[in-house]
Amino acid sequence: RLYNEVQDLKGNIRVYCRIRPFLQGQNKKQTSIEYIGENGEVVVANPSKQGKENHRLFKFNKIFGPATTQEEVFVDTQPLIRSVLDGYNVCIFAYGQTGSGKTYTMSGPNLSSKKDWGVNYRALNDLFHISQNRKSAFVYEIGVQMVEIYNEQLLFIFFNLHTLGIWASSQPNGLAVPDASMLPVKSTTDVLELMQFGEANRAVGATALNERSSRSHSVLTVHIRGTELETGAALRGSLHLVDLAGSERVDRSEATGDRLREAQHINKSLSALGDVIFALAQKSSHVPYRNSKLTQVLQSSLGGQAKTLMFVQLNPDVDSYSETVSTLKFAERVS
Ligand code: ADP
Ligand code: MG
Repeated sequence: RLYNEVQDLKGNIRVYCRIRPFLQGQNKKQTSIEYIGENGEVVVANPSKQGKENHRLFKFNKIFGPATTQEEVFVDTQPLIRSVLDGYNVCIFAYGQTGSGKTYTMSGPNLSSKKDWGVNYRALNDLFHISQNRKSAFVYEIGVQMVEIYNEQLLFIFFNLHTLGIWASSQPNGLAVPDASMLPVKSTTDVLELMQFGEANRAVGATALNERSSRSHSVLTVHIRGTELETGAALRGSLHLVDLAGSERVDRSEATGDRLREAQHINKSLSALGDVIFALAQKSSHVPYRNSKLTQVLQSSLGGQAKTLMFVQLNPDVDSYSETVSTLKFAERVS
């Protein structure tokens, strides 16, 4: 094991909680975050209600308060990411209500500023860096692939440096992510170009898709193949970076038509994800991967030797109290 520095963590599932700051220009509202402990504790309460029973304590492998930088978050994620070069499959995803910072953590708010980069660019950057600069016995090839899951349908985002196509696929098993959608990348610049191109294309070419980004799961997959120079022996690892759809509950009495259908699909796939991780955490012999497209797509990086990290994202605003509690309960069940 060359890169696997993860030793202090029990099992293969870890859960980090990140609380975003109040946003600039937002009135300083009351917060539901009562306390953030050094050992991963968080206490939430609804200050507009009285009584001790209103306080709830949750505990995670790590907790990142509102002042935490992108760099600090990455430092605690890096060992996991590097284990991909040892042939591990790793899955990192962000869970939380819309507006809680999932995209901020995974992608960052702004690609053009390096210090704002989220986990996925830093991860790719780091993988390129060590796969190229190290006097390694291996030579590595890296490819990326992007899939969106919307209403239990897979949308393959085909990268090509000149055209970016998005096709809906209705393949019944949803598992055959075509190899054609994988693009070999040689540097972080390649990846940034792709991502910027992709973002721009989505924004102009597919307004509807852009609008529903909070209602679809987006999965960026990094495939690594390492070949040992001396023996020709090969190893493969993969990294799935997942920005999940918003976990907020939709009021059934208000949502109708498309919105209701979206909400039902999101609900179904997030529960399926929760059930899979719960089964893995319990070391259950049956892991129900087949209940959603999301868990089918992620199957190779959930369970077995794979390592999983969930970022639980919280909005500190007291108005989000009930969503915050339901997010924390989801996380508690799987940690
Ligand atoms: P989500 O993807 O969960 O819907 P976003 O990542 O889009 O949420 O975050 C919502 C807003 O909060 C954005 O304006 C984002 O830039 C801001 N934000 C989120 N997390 C942070 C953070 N840690 N620091 C500063 N701003 C943040
Ligand atoms: Mg988002």
